Amino acid sequence: MSTLAALIQDLAAGAVEVVDLTQPLSEQTPVLVLPEPFVNTPGWRMHELSRFDDRGPAWYWNSFEGGEHVGTHFDAPIHWVTGKDGQDVSQVPANRLIGPAIVIDKSAEVAGDPDYLLTVEDVEAFVEEHGPLPEAGWLLYRTGWDTRAHDQDAFLNADDSGPHTPGFSTECAQWLAEESPLIGVGVETVGTDAGAAHSFDPPFPCHGFMLGSGKYGLTQLANLATLPPTGSVLVAAPLKIVEGSGSPARVLALKPVS
Ligand code: MN
Repeated sequence: MSTLAALIQDLAAGAVEVVDLTQPLSEQTPVLVLPEPFVNTPGWRMHELSRFDDRGPAWYWNSFEGGEHVGTHFDAPIHWVTGKDGQDVSQVPANRLIGPAIVIDKSAEVAGDPDYLLTVEDVEAFVEEHGPLPEAGWLLYRTGWDTRAHDQDAFLNADDSGPHTPGFSTECAQWLAEESPLIGVGVETVGTDAGAAHSFDPPFPCHGFMLGSGKYGLTQLANLATLPPTGSVLVAAPLKIVEGSGSPARVLALKPVS
């Protein structure tokens, strides 16, 4: 049997489950807030065109507006100054949008420390237990932050010293970008960098190193808790926005059911 025939059979039989890793996209979706003097992104807005009325008696439709980096979304290399000569979101090859995923779960650590940073040692410990990182794969970073995704204040978790959300250490971001076979990281938080990463050296190292290496980011993911540490396949579908720096995305995973 061919690989795809086996997949179709397994999907029909429930031996492979499709998990939706996407948060709902609405006017309530939390968005990043940058400090002065930087320009902020608008959130998501819907404008009704007609709904079975004089404007369109038999049809319902809307227009929408919003930032490229709103809700569950994809970061393309050109989003960052280090990757400014790289791919825009329309140029990301389709075969880079499907790949093996691993899930590293630090939700227990983050529950005690919202500023928790994933380290190279954490990734090495994962490899020791679960085997090598997959070629052209994605690291999905489970932190438990998805439980806050319905509430802007809880999601950004900011106080006088700025936002407090988990991320990657500078060394880990550089290692993932430059040494690992992975092509992307996916997180549950508003961005791939930690809330405190504005004060790291360099600032926002995950954006800088990953996008500067032609790699990718996915944010505001859901349902990572339902995925196994290894063995699932990620499918990321950003809009093909010409010259887009990113895009809201539908993100799915194929998961074996044991
Ligand atoms: Mn982004």
